[in-house]
Amino acid sequence: MTSRTLPNSDRAWMERALVLAREARGHVWPNPPVGCVVVKDGEAVAEAATHPGGRPHAERKAIDLAGHSANEATLFVTLEPCCHWGKTPPCTDAIIDAGILRVVCAVQDPDPRVNGGGFEELRRAGIDVTIGVGAEPAKTLMSGFFHRIRTGTPEVMASTVGPGLIPDGVDGVLVSRKKAVVLTTRSGTIESELRNPHHLLEWMGDLGLTTVAIPKQDAFWCHGQSHGDVNECNYTSKTTSPLREIGA
Ligand SMILES: [Zn+2]
Repeated sequence: MTSRTLPNSDRAWMERALVLAREARGHVWPNPPVGCVVVKDGEAVAEAATHPGGRPHAERKAIDLAGHSANEATLFVTLEPCCHWGKTPPCTDAIIDAGILRVVCAVQDPDPRVNGGGFEELRRAGIDVTIGVGAEPAKTLMSGFFHRIRTGTPEVMASTVGPGLIPDGVDGVLVSRKKAVVLTTRSGTIESELRNPHHLLEWMGDLGLTTVAIPKQDAFWCHGQSHGDVNECNYTSKTTSPLREIGA
């Protein structure tokens, strides 16, 4: 099926998958927030998002929920299904085994372990694959994940949310202390030695974070003189792109 003949309902089902993905954002690192809807005879038989903590993936959850109804159904998903063995078996296997006839997807997964390989697996199994429905909102939703795949570091936002609060859609908050930094996520707090901003970003990328908020007044942004290496004042203009401001 080409984009010229896409049914109108494709966009509507993808909208629902995007809503599910949006709700998962900030809760699923190191994995991307993904939404999935299984549709049969014009009705949703199951829907799911990436589980908190990143596993199981949305497709596998939705297929498990759909049970036998997944047979000959269409699966809408906001990111290309994985085709590699990570900590869980590939979602492409689950989709093929369930008897899904058609997959509608928003964007290709830039992770080098996937990167088009998921679509290839599905097509090889005879599944009709449509790519690009809802691509722009999906990319915006997963901007932190895409940023980390591209650069190895999380997307950073200057936050005006009060101390100790993790803003919606953000994986964690970093706060500088005198000789340390404290990273607070929804699964706990990690303290680390103070490093220069570039090393701090690499450290958070290695931990798997995709989106981090740093209070606007934090030493990370060079406001204050007593925090050692963090005061590299040309830093923000050089390396934090995209930088967005978020508030309560
Ligand atoms: Zn997967």
